[in-house]
Amino acid sequence: MNALDTLIELSSQMTLEHAEENRLTGGRVGRGDSRDRIETTTNTAKPSCYSPKARAEFTEREQRAAFVHPAQLPGGKQIKLLKTLLTSACERDCYYCPFRAGRDFRRATFKPDEFADLFSKMNRSGFAEGIFLSSGIAAGGVRTQDKLLDTADILRKKHNFKGYIHLKIMPGAEKDQVYRAMQLADRVSVNLEAPNTERLARLAPHKTFIEELLRPLRWVEEIRRTVPAYKFWKGKYPSTVTQFVAGGADESDLELLGTTQWLMKNLRLKRAYFSAFHPILDTPLENKPAVDPIREHRLYQASFLLRDYGFELEDLPFTSDENLPLHSDPKLAWAQMNLVHAPVEVNRADRRELMRVPGIGQRGAEAILSARRTRKLRDLSILKKLGILTDRAAPYVLLDGRKAALQTRMF
Ligand code: SF4
Repeated sequence: MNALDTLIELSSQMTLEHAEENRLTGGRVGRGDSRDRIETTTNTAKPSCYSPKARAEFTEREQRAAFVHPAQLPGGKQIKLLKTLLTSACERDCYYCPFRAGRDFRRATFKPDEFADLFSKMNRSGFAEGIFLSSGIAAGGVRTQDKLLDTADILRKKHNFKGYIHLKIMPGAEKDQVYRAMQLADRVSVNLEAPNTERLARLAPHKTFIEELLRPLRWVEEIRRTVPAYKFWKGKYPSTVTQFVAGGADESDLELLGTTQWLMKNLRLKRAYFSAFHPILDTPLENKPAVDPIREHRLYQASFLLRDYGFELEDLPFTSDENLPLHSDPKLAWAQMNLVHAPVEVNRADRRELMRVPGIGQRGAEAILSARRTRKLRDLSILKKLGILTDRAAPYVLLDGRKAALQTRMF
């Protein structure tokens, strides 16, 4: 197998790994709710986004097969992100995973320098600008982590690659490896897969939640608190993210979001990715029904409410089974319960109160705060000019003491 064929094999299942790409089911907390676009849209490769040089160097099949995803980095920059594994061989047997040990399919493996050389060529020809690098576990988490670190090191030092690297931390990696990953990467991640020990046992019987998965995330935060930022890549601490298999262990949204909130508050997790469970043939969960992708979407919406909108877990509109309703946006559902009879006066509300209103996001709240320094806001048309989605916001706001909803009918 040549290097590009190896890459095609390895990247073929990477849609299961959510990295910086947009999720089609993602989108916004509510239309108009500002920058809460999920950082970026799951897509297979789009040849049209490649440079002319890349189109000349790679055949159309190669362009289509390699999983380069349009992605948006945390700062907003759009890049072409290559998502791949270093090896699809794995000695673990997670119940949901296509790469689990014993599953019959063709495995492929890169050596660190082989992959670094290929990626560097792809980068120079404009085919890929950043990389998300993960791996199956072969010969233990420590050994596998070393290979990931070697790859990143070769890219940074030999190929002088200064672009984006998202490096996966393997279950069982050691603390000095986590430190090294933080020196090489812009982002590091550990997939928790499930919200707690009990749920993880139903998905991945040979992974330990506290020791193998949570501990590396704790180390990242510990290192951030004790080592100055200039010692890390580009003088900044890398961000941390995790991923959950939503619905794979019959866990509730409350469990997933409870763990997410804890991680955000205590370990400064940048965000959680939610991957709706989808059964894979020839795995122990092959007969388990797929989870509705809309659940994934609601989880994203709720996690952004926790992260950016000042919502607490108890504010979220969980149903009696501790899940979010699938049919409604959680922010809208909260407003229905809390703001219909106590609308927010836009001329007096603070930033946090404004952001609780459907149709008002972070930018909208700032625009309102700024506009009302010079005048009273008495009209929905003014809010509209400020970027507020007035048809969503109107039932929940007062404009100088008057119900805005009445004005809506006049528009
Ligand atoms: S350790 Fe990772 S690659 Fe291996 S079976 Fe589990 S989820 Fe799949």
